[in-house]
Amino acid sequence: MKVLVTGGAGFIGSAVIRLLVGELGVSVVNLDALTYAGNLDTVAPVADRPGYSFVKADIRDGAALAEIFSAEQPDMVMHLAAESHVDRSIDGPAAFIETNVLGTYRLLEAARAYWSKLPAERREAFRFHHISTDEVYGSLGAEGLFTETTAYAPNSPYSASKASSDHLVRAWHHTYGLPVVTTNCSNNYGPYHFPEKLIPLTILNGLEGKDLPVYGTGENVRDWLFVEDHARALWTVATKGRLGEVYNIGGEAERTNISVVRAICDLLDELAPSGRPHRELIRFVTDRPGHDVRYAMDITKVSNELGWRPRESFETGLAKTVAWYLANRPWWEAIRSQSYQGERLGLKGAEK
Ligand code: NAD
Repeated sequence: MKVLVTGGAGFIGSAVIRLLVGELGVSVVNLDALTYAGNLDTVAPVADRPGYSFVKADIRDGAALAEIFSAEQPDMVMHLAAESHVDRSIDGPAAFIETNVLGTYRLLEAARAYWSKLPAERREAFRFHHISTDEVYGSLGAEGLFTETTAYAPNSPYSASKASSDHLVRAWHHTYGLPVVTTNCSNNYGPYHFPEKLIPLTILNGLEGKDLPVYGTGENVRDWLFVEDHARALWTVATKGRLGEVYNIGGEAERTNISVVRAICDLLDELAPSGRPHRELIRFVTDRPGHDVRYAMDITKVSNELGWRPRESFETGLAKTVAWYLANRPWWEAIRSQSYQGERLGLKGAEK
């Protein structure tokens, strides 16, 4: 079994590769363009294994994709390459349309051309697994959960681009018979998370004694999913999911942003005391334009049908995450000194 993982130098893709190559002995070709978010150090623990290889390529490049399919002969595609940060999509939506929509289209076409010429048995077994987000469903009020039948209502350029890609994947199944499965997941956190997102940014700013920005009043709710739980869920769906189906994946761990930041402060007080409580660094800043209020996933389908459930609670997962950042300074110090210093993103939409 050989899996072509797109975006494997990113946060979730690298967790999938560490699981597949490192724990399950599945061969992987990591296809990644190495944008600002891509970092091969994230797959360093398995990079020397015989079942792992890397190819630098852009999913918008159809000719490159055709060559890679032909040379690598994968049995499955797990598609995680994307522009993934909502704030960046507000400042510059074009890259999101190009990679998430056009890139997914090019990947679908390359996969279809390759799959349609496979011998019957391999054609039957082939899978295209598309990885997407709960943000395609829009925003919840105080009650209720997103299910697989919740109507799409994306609110940000990022979520609109992901919704578009979901629709393309669905159409390639219904129109051409491409054997697809799609997963929509909630907010991930864990080791190797690029420090522009809430949890790693808070940990690193806290360690450096810098302000801890909280958007608006901090009451927005996210459903936090530990990335290694997510990687197991993805492999479960990729190998056992029913064709053409969508599965929602969440951590069953709803928290307000302010409670997440406070929990990190308390862990830092315990694990890396600085002489004053980290909560004193919290600063409420201008809200994200169009900030969705609440996301929360109903995971009944994936747990009843496929037997997956998260292993980590938010408390155990967060403690592991903070400990990982404390033990892996060289990984994030390289990013903080080069590509991203923690500056505020995503306010261009608020400028009038
Ligand atoms: P990430 O930003 O950490 O990684 C994305 C990877 O894709 C990077 O390695 C980057 O170099 C690569 N990439 C970007 N554009 C590319 C292109 N044109 N061609 C080839 N490679 C390209 O993202 P992530 O957090 O690991 O997210 C992975 C997937 O999961 C994305 O599709 C994202 O929409 C989805 N998702 C993420 C979350 C989350 O909380 N992180 C939640 C829901 C869904």
